[in-house]
Formats: sequence, structure tokens, C-alpha cells
Amino acid sequence: MSLSEFELIAQYFSQLGMLRDDVVLGVGDDAALLSMPAGRELVVTVDTLIAGVHFPRDTDPESIGHKALAVNLSDLAAMGAQPAWVTLALTLPEADADWLAGFARGFSALALEHGVQLIGGDTTRGPLSITVQAMGHVTPGKALRRSAAQAGDLIYVTGTLGDAGLALLGLQEEVRLPLADKTYALQRLNRPVPRVDAGVALTGIAHAAVDISDGFAADLGHILAASGVGATVQVERLPLSRPLLGHFAAAGGWVVPLASGDDYELCFTVPSSRQAQAETALAELGVPCTWVGMIDARPGLHCLLDDGSEFTPPGSGYRHF
Ligand code: ADP
Ligand code: MG
Repeated sequence: MSLSEFELIAQYFSQLGMLRDDVVLGVGDDAALLSMPAGRELVVTVDTLIAGVHFPRDTDPESIGHKALAVNLSDLAAMGAQPAWVTLALTLPEADADWLAGFARGFSALALEHGVQLIGGDTTRGPLSITVQAMGHVTPGKALRRSAAQAGDLIYVTGTLGDAGLALLGLQEEVRLPLADKTYALQRLNRPVPRVDAGVALTGIAHAAVDISDGFAADLGHILAASGVGATVQVERLPLSRPLLGHFAAAGGWVVPLASGDDYELCFTVPSSRQAQAETALAELGVPCTWVGMIDARPGLHCLLDDGSEFTPPGSGYRHF
């Protein structure tokens, strides 16, 4: 069944997510009207997902809907922002009702989970591409910036690293994964969990934060460059899931958690005076976090193995150009 542009907007996108009191006017007019919560700073981010680049072409539509929103909520999380509103620019090769229903289901479930409302967008025909803009808010001056790391800070990561990379290796048949491990890894690749509550909880505690979309070494590198500092990472402390541990050598070893992207965990830095506070805050949320290294005054990223030798990660994360 094929739908007109306006039918499909009305059917799938006119009432998606939570109905928020601060949305004065949502989908349907030339633009949306929002009432900003008093005394908060607006935080805005946008990310595009292109079929074949950001997700395998045969990914199920529900996962695509989830991931399109998740990667944007992850950017808000990395700023310590509370998510509130999103817009959606959708380019579709055709108006396929089944695909749209699945996409809207995945998007909507995550939006509801985070109290987010879809307030507008644009719908066009062309090769599949999804652009989501997410907006949230933060206490003025409290956002977690990449530029705020200081020498002596402890470097932490949430969750485990390299699972989405393992999924891609499995899909490319470079690693043979038993079904349970494949299911786990694909869930991590297709249904990333944005660390929203962790990001919000870290405001006022952490110095700098970034979400790990391109790979731990590359994304930590963004903090180092923006802050004008360096880091020493204890490579063998990087947190690994059981499935990745089980295929560690076949997957390529430490390069997987260091350099593969799409994990959407947070990497953040904390002054040692607030180490316990950071660990307690995340423990209360049930978010695992691991101390993996230190910020140095001397620029450069040094990755050390337990025997003291330096590990040089090949490549530097995913780059489009
Ligand atoms: P205009 O031509 O004025 O840009 P559109 O026809 O593009 O208006 O959109 C009509 C309404 O539907 C607008 O409120 C727009 O924000 C909303 N909209 C269009 N596409 C989407 C979408 N994919 N998701 C959510 N809202 C959408
Ligand atoms: Mg439009």
C-alpha cells in the first residue's frame, strides 16, 4: 500500500512520543512552538543516518527508528542534557506502510522512554536517509564540554566497548559467532542504549564528556584536542563483554574496543576529588563504569599494555571523508 506524503505524516508522525506540556504547537503548522523551561539552556544536536553507511541496508525498520533517535539522545547525554523535543527529516525511496509502521514503532518506544515528543519534520522521496534533530536543556553553565578536561582527571567509560564492532565483524563473516553471541552483538549495534540518565547525573561532577560513536581512541582524542591535554590509557582495563572476550583474538584484539565505533557509551573525565561521587552516581542508576586512564598535561594519547609497553592503535576511527 502506498500513502501520500500527508497521509503518512498524519498516520505515523503527527502524535509520536510523549505529549509534553511545553509543546505549544507540534506537528502540522509551518513550524513548531516550544515554551522553554525557565532558567535552562537549550541544547541542540542533529545526526543523519544513511542506509549502507550508518546501518546495514537490510536492518529491520524498527531498529532503524530506534537507532536514528538513540544516536541523537546519545549526543545530548554527552552534554549532560535532559532530552525534550525532536524533529525528523525522512527521505524514503517509497512510502511503504509496513516499513513506516516498524520505523515509527522503534522511534516511538525510545521517545516515550525518555519523555521526548516529535514536534515536526520533513518528508521527501530519494535514497533512504534519516535526519533527526534532538533538543534538550541543561542548567546554564553546567553542560559537559569536550574542552573541559584537566590534567590529573581520571578517564572513565560506561558499559562495554567493541560490541557493535564485533557485530559488524560477524556480519562480514570475518568472525564466526554462535547464535547467542550474534544476537547480543546485533542488539548492541542496532539498538544502542543512549546513556541519558548517566549524562544528566554527571553534570556538576564530571569535567568533560563525549559519546563513543567513532571509536574510543578517536572520541577520547576529541576531548584531548579540545582541552589541549593528553592521556594515558591502560588498554587492558577497557571493559569487554563476555561475547567479545570469547572471540577476542579472532576479532583482532585490543584494536576492537579501542577503534571500532557505534557503541554509544560515554567517555568522561573526573577530577580525583570527585571520583567517589561519580562512581556512586552511576552505581545508583545501575550504569556500569570503568576507570581506564588519566588525563596528562603532556599532549598525545598513550595506550599502555599491562607489561608497560605502548600499544599503537591502527587507524583513528570512522571518517566519512
Ligand atoms: P512545509 O511545506 O510548510 O515545510 P510540510 O508539508 O513539510 O510543511 O510538513 C507539514 C507538517 O508536517 C509540518 O508541521 C512538519 O513539521 C510536519 N512533518 C513533515 N514531515 C514530518 C515527519 N517526517 N515527522 C514529523 N513531522 C513531519
Ligand atoms: Mg517541509
